[in-house]
Amino acid sequence: MQQKIKLVCDCGTINQFSVERLDGNPMCGICSQPLFSGKPISVTSERLIKHIEHSGLPILIDFWAPWCGPCVNFAPLFEQFAGLVGNQLRLLKVDTEANQQAAADFNIRSIPTLSLMREGKEIARQTGGVALPQLQKWVVENLTKKY
Ligand SMILES: [Zn+2]
Repeated sequence: MQQKIKLVCDCGTINQFSVERLDGNPMCGICSQPLFSGKPISVTSERLIKHIEHSGLPILIDFWAPWCGPCVNFAPLFEQFAGLVGNQLRLLKVDTEANQQAAADFNIRSIPTLSLMREGKEIARQTGGVALPQLQKWVVENLTKKY
């Protein structure tokens, strides 16, 4: 039996396909866009929940706001990271100003906050901007940690 993986597209469609297809630049069955654009996906409170409930890949969420200097500075780095991780990790961005429900659900006290999630659960959290090598190290360490 082939192992299936679920992924939510930028358009909101839940796609399901075999794991082997992950490496073949999978496209969304509805909007025909690539499921991995190499860029973080901006999501609303509602869409965030959909990703958390249906993502076969771990998720890294950047909680930010347009008025927050450190958040704006961190944005290009997060985008660069999205290009680096490819199809290993889903990178999402939540504007906490526009999506206060998500900020409340996640109990966001300061921004930027990074939340790393796997199988619907937060496994690590970090506040404040971080340099790319540190971000990479933090993600790898937490995803490979034994529980
Ligand atoms: Zn789509």
